[in-house]
Amino acid sequence: MMITRSTIAVFEREMKQYATELRDIGLVIDREPERIAEFTHLASLRTINRMMIPPEYGGEPIVTVGQERYYGLSCLERVIAIEELSAGDAGVFLGSPGPSMSSVIISALADSQQKERYYSHFLKGPAWSFFALTEPEKGSDATGIGTRISRNKEGKLNLDGQKYYIGNGSRASIGLVFAQTNRTPLGIQIALVDTSVQGFSATPLDTMGVRGVQLSHLTLDGFPLAEEDIIGRHLSPTKRGLWGALQTFHRMRPGVAALALGVARAAYDYVKEQRSVFSEREKVELERLEMRLHSLRSMIRSAAAEIDADVQKGYLASLSKIRAGALAEEATELALDLMGPGSMIDHPLLNKWYRDARAFEFMEGTTSIQKINVFQAYANGKMKHA
Ligand SMILES: Cc1cc2nc3c(=O)[nH]c(=O)nc-3n(C[C@H](O)[C@H](O)[C@H](O)COP(=O)(O)OP(=O)(O)OC[C@H]3O[C@@H](n4cnc5c(N)ncnc54)[C@H](O)[C@@H]3O)c2cc1C
Repeated sequence: MMITRSTIAVFEREMKQYATELRDIGLVIDREPERIAEFTHLASLRTINRMMIPPEYGGEPIVTVGQERYYGLSCLERVIAIEELSAGDAGVFLGSPGPSMSSVIISALADSQQKERYYSHFLKGPAWSFFALTEPEKGSDATGIGTRISRNKEGKLNLDGQKYYIGNGSRASIGLVFAQTNRTPLGIQIALVDTSVQGFSATPLDTMGVRGVQLSHLTLDGFPLAEEDIIGRHLSPTKRGLWGALQTFHRMRPGVAALALGVARAAYDYVKEQRSVFSEREKVELERLEMRLHSLRSMIRSAAAEIDADVQKGYLASLSKIRAGALAEEATELALDLMGPGSMIDHPLLNKWYRDARAFEFMEGTTSIQKINVFQAYANGKMKHA
């Protein structure tokens, strides 16, 4: 779907309105993440709940421009929307109901029955989802996960293992769990899990940043699976499971970069609103930050558009994620510095954004892992024309 300059302007304007709602409840959710359920009536949360549901599965547009309807299905649409929503509040955005990251995998790898089952969940009302790859002992090295899909004595499939740092895990009704069927990378499969089934439990973890997402510890203990719960069962082993999912991660990463950009921008805007007189040194620092925000936005949007056209250009997402994570950390530090001594206490929003900004380093792969992605793209010649 075409996205023109005027489309972007409409997108930004509409998302800004939602962002105001997210900002209004940001500090409440930071203190008491479980209270997000009280706010699902807000237009912003209702929109996020239907973001990324294709029209053929009952989705409604999140933005309409003339005859064109946008559902948040492309990377470019998402980065525009996410930057604005995150500038409102990244924690509330991440903690909101909706198909979230899992829907990128569902859309790429699930069969039509699985898609129907997944998306219909959110059409009935607000519902949370999760995406469970990380384990207590395995984060960056996804190929080494220990959660297992095995057959019991009756020949039925069971899912057993632990997942850690899983966003919205303890409030979700549906989600995806990565698990191995044998000890090879091709043996890693993705299971669609309904959390009301016995064998699933989740406990929230206490965290410092983006507390709204309520990271959780999941336990799967003899969780019964049916063949139709395995995502991509109609695809070849090289196209489903972890290998298939790795391609889709490239489509998620620009979204994490946009989240970080949103927080960096929020910190910049806050200082400009709160103070009107700056020293020469401060003016230079703010101007430099403003230029970096603009150039990062261009970088993220062009990475998103390139990946929409060719997912093999995932290294562009890695590059933007590296830059965005670092800028969010620097911008929130600079904002605290510019607001003077005591700013951590006197400016609760800055305090919050400072903590939130530190989470992006870990989401969707750390900087070291992104650098490895970029190096691999360079080494195998993919970056020649970049
Ligand atoms: C806010 C937030 C939300 C999250 N949401 C989810 C979620 O919804 N679902 C989910 O599955 N996970 C989620 N995670 C977990 C996240 O994906 C992991 O934290 C991340 O993959 C890193 O894994 P780890 O914490 O085990 O660190 P490790 O993998 O142990 O890494 C520790 C350090 O070692 C470095 N390192 C590791 N391997 C290498 C290597 N090969 N070369 C060089 N350096 C290396 C890393 O860069 C890092 O600095 C979330 C995390 C956060 C903070």
